[in-house]
Amino acid sequence: MSSEKFSTCLICWYRKNKRDLPWRKTRDPYKIWISEIMLQQTTVSAVIPYYERWIKKFPSIKSVSRASLQKVLKVWQGLGYYSRARNIHKCAKNLMQFHGGKIPQGYEPLRKLPGFGPYTTGAVLSIAFDKRFSIVDANVRRVVMRLLALKGQADTTKDKKVEVFLEDVMPQKAMSDFNQGLMELGALVCRSKEPACNMCPVKNFCKAYAQNIQEIIPTPKKIEIKNISVAVAIIEKNKKFLIQRRPLKGLLAGLWEFPGGKLKKAESSKKALVREVKEELGMDAIDLRPFMKTKHFYTQYRVLLDVWKCGLKKYPKQNDDRKWVSLANLKKYPMPSGDAKILEKLIELKGIK
Ligand code: SF4
Repeated sequence: MSSEKFSTCLICWYRKNKRDLPWRKTRDPYKIWISEIMLQQTTVSAVIPYYERWIKKFPSIKSVSRASLQKVLKVWQGLGYYSRARNIHKCAKNLMQFHGGKIPQGYEPLRKLPGFGPYTTGAVLSIAFDKRFSIVDANVRRVVMRLLALKGQADTTKDKKVEVFLEDVMPQKAMSDFNQGLMELGALVCRSKEPACNMCPVKNFCKAYAQNIQEIIPTPKKIEIKNISVAVAIIEKNKKFLIQRRPLKGLLAGLWEFPGGKLKKAESSKKALVREVKEELGMDAIDLRPFMKTKHFYTQYRVLLDVWKCGLKKYPKQNDDRKWVSLANLKKYPMPSGDAKILEKLIELKGIK
């Protein structure tokens, strides 16, 4: 196989067929970095409105570095995997302090920044600066596994072979279009189900296509979705609602939510709510009334929220991690998606815009 021919076919195809995406209208490394972080674990169509909103609110590294973490998390709200937003915030401060507010162009300094793993480092260096670094995301891994007829599941154990292949076919120039071309090929043509091989610009180089085994590469993974039931308390006093901040480490770290928690085995939602209020607030919940039920899906979980309105025998005071907030002001607090749905319902019922 001629490596040069492979990259030429791929780059020509990409230039003619690439989708018109907002982050492709720029070579600004800051904007490319933000788009690459958002695109991890999230689909292109879901990312577009978030990206546009983010760039409007934070047009530069400086603007992110000056914002509060709460504001950054609020703009990120709904995208999930919030450590990504926290790392962007931390990284922006670091870039202002040590790099003159600019993204460094070398692998080592970039790799040391918060949130810059091998993928993000390679993506920013190649896409923004055309540097010769390969990148392996889920699309690239699948495409190369098929090109090499590499059987098995698409996991990181395949990456060594994928990287050796990429090193061989990478061009000396136009790395931005090469890397984006491979990812775009995976998204549009070499899709996980029903790859459109007839339209593929590199089918003549593809071993899986030659053997007609592309449909069975890679072996599909079974994802087990777990159900989690949660009881939630809406506690209102003097037109203010009680919310609490989640711990600053772990799942959904630092986000604000209504009190409540997971049901234990064979526990009713009502009992769980009374127990959770006692454990979290040290108070007795009274006068429980059902308010709403809602669901939220995460990659491996389905969270079922059973929401109750209730009173307390005695109301707690606020502190740094527990606040009484008016409905209008609740909108300023970053919340997990399930709590944001509850808030929407409260706002709808009170007719607040
Ligand atoms: S020929 Fe088919 S399987 Fe091979 S890279 Fe192209 S789309 Fe993928």
